[in-house]
Amino acid sequence: MTRKLIYCDTIADYRGILASPGAILIDGYEVIAVGLPEEIGTTGVHPIRVHGLVTPPFVNVHSHLDLSGIGIQPPENSFVSWIENTIAPIRKTSSENEMHAATQRGIELSLAGGTAMVGDIASTVAVAKQVRESVLGGVSFVEVFGLGSRETLAIDAINAMPCEFGISPHAPYSCGSEVFRKAFESGKPIATHLAELPEEFEATMKHVGSLVEFSKKIGAWNDQVKKWDNNPIDTIVGHLDQRKLIAAHLNYIEDHHLELLANTNITVAYCPRASAYFGHKNHRYEEMLSCGVSVALGTDSLICLDTPDRISVLDEMRFLFQQGCTDPSVLLNMATVNGAAALGVNPSLLTLERGSVAGLLLMVSQAESTFDQVMQSNDKPTWLLPLLSKKQVF
Ligand SMILES: [Zn+2]
Repeated sequence: MTRKLIYCDTIADYRGILASPGAILIDGYEVIAVGLPEEIGTTGVHPIRVHGLVTPPFVNVHSHLDLSGIGIQPPENSFVSWIENTIAPIRKTSSENEMHAATQRGIELSLAGGTAMVGDIASTVAVAKQVRESVLGGVSFVEVFGLGSRETLAIDAINAMPCEFGISPHAPYSCGSEVFRKAFESGKPIATHLAELPEEFEATMKHVGSLVEFSKKIGAWNDQVKKWDNNPIDTIVGHLDQRKLIAAHLNYIEDHHLELLANTNITVAYCPRASAYFGHKNHRYEEMLSCGVSVALGTDSLICLDTPDRISVLDEMRFLFQQGCTDPSVLLNMATVNGAAALGVNPSLLTLERGSVAGLLLMVSQAESTFDQVMQSNDKPTWLLPLLSKKQVF
């Protein structure tokens, strides 16, 4: 008999609170029924009583697991000084073994945070392979860079990319628009950083500012770099047509972008704690959602977080809850099904609807574990039902 009946304080998924107190009847990884304990009955199975909130596992749609080696670091005065002082030394000095160990730590911290799948940005094919071979589902996007005369190198890398990986043209200020066009034409899953910084617009459209100075300093700039005619969001949407794209951040959009984005297959990977770490304010994710834009949650790298023992969008939900976004359905949509759809995985694996589920999480707070209390607490989740092997489903 593989049937289990679990009674808990509260049970929730992307639809919101399903029952409190809650009960779930499962057979292996098949959800049979969810509801109040008296609605489910005992159906001949002895109930297991747990204290806490039960949910499906989470999707982290934007991570950099290979940056998990140095742990949390304080912010710098500017994005460029952060790249120079925090990221560049890692990229310059890490051996293959150190990269492997950092990525392994990222995978373990993701699991500790209740993550079922990731949209991970890998700095090398070896890292992408390591994440893909881990228990985590989702997509590994190999990052490419190329401006001006270096665009052909990025395009060669896109053409040579093994079919199992996605591609991530890093950002409009580090990749020419032709690199984006070729990436979209490849038919592979694509992710990028977009409208992350105000400096991105002056760099791409005017060729001035700190990002251009930095690109010159590291030798990435050359006299063949072309200006973008338009805001990169508009240009990228034009190249994209109706193909899918995961666009991290979108901290800076104009009003007309709300409707433009709603008519695309772009998923915005909003990383609330990373945005706060870099000082970006007033992200328009709620307006995006109400206009019909798909928004999912990401963590960005561990470096920008405040939870040393886990990498989890649970803490992104908590961050937003504490800022006033308290609707469980809004938060859990962004933390589960929206991310799964963006990664091309069946979203129903991240729901408690009848059928397969990728695992079950249990989260507790000091008092009775309502959704609100779990959002106000700071403990990591535990796996009530361990993550389903991706060989079986992903
Ligand atoms: Zn990122």
